[in-house]
Amino acid sequence: MAIRRILKYGEQQLRQPSKEVFKVSKKIQDLVHDMLETMYSANGVGLAAPQIGENLRIFVIDVSSDKEPLNPLVFINPKIIKKSGSICSQEGCLSFPEVYSDVKRAEYVMVKATDIKGRSFVMEGKEGSLLARAIQHEFDHLDGVLFIDRCTDVEKTEQELAKNNLPKIQPEKLIKE
Ligand code: ZN
Repeated sequence: MAIRRILKYGEQQLRQPSKEVFKVSKKIQDLVHDMLETMYSANGVGLAAPQIGENLRIFVIDVSSDKEPLNPLVFINPKIIKKSGSICSQEGCLSFPEVYSDVKRAEYVMVKATDIKGRSFVMEGKEGSLLARAIQHEFDHLDGVLFIDRCTDVEKTEQELAKNNLPKIQPEKLIKE
């Protein structure tokens, strides 16, 4: 296992759509372990493969609190099969150090994916939970979509980006839902 470099906003691979995983091979399992180690070392709640420069449809999440045991969740080839409601709250991203922005997401999601052993599973992100939000945030990464594309306050987000020496918002990428 190895801690990998997390790409920062402005690096091309973050905007590239990721490819389906053909088979959960040893190589894929090793990649997942690297992703988990990288996420934990950066104190993140989630990490998607493109964030370490691998354009594959994989993300990992752990929403357990500091007092709870680790609870790593692995999503390979995820599909969001149900979502409902709408809720706005603050988000950050390991590829945008120190940048936070209000983002509108579905309150509830149901996702189908493959785990690290190649087994299919279905998971729910309950109404307004951090898990529901994290699933949507990480899922977006696989399509090259970044949380700032969904920000509710463009001006404020621009200021946050500038303050942290990150590139500007790309107006053509903004998503209004
Ligand atoms: Zn992110």
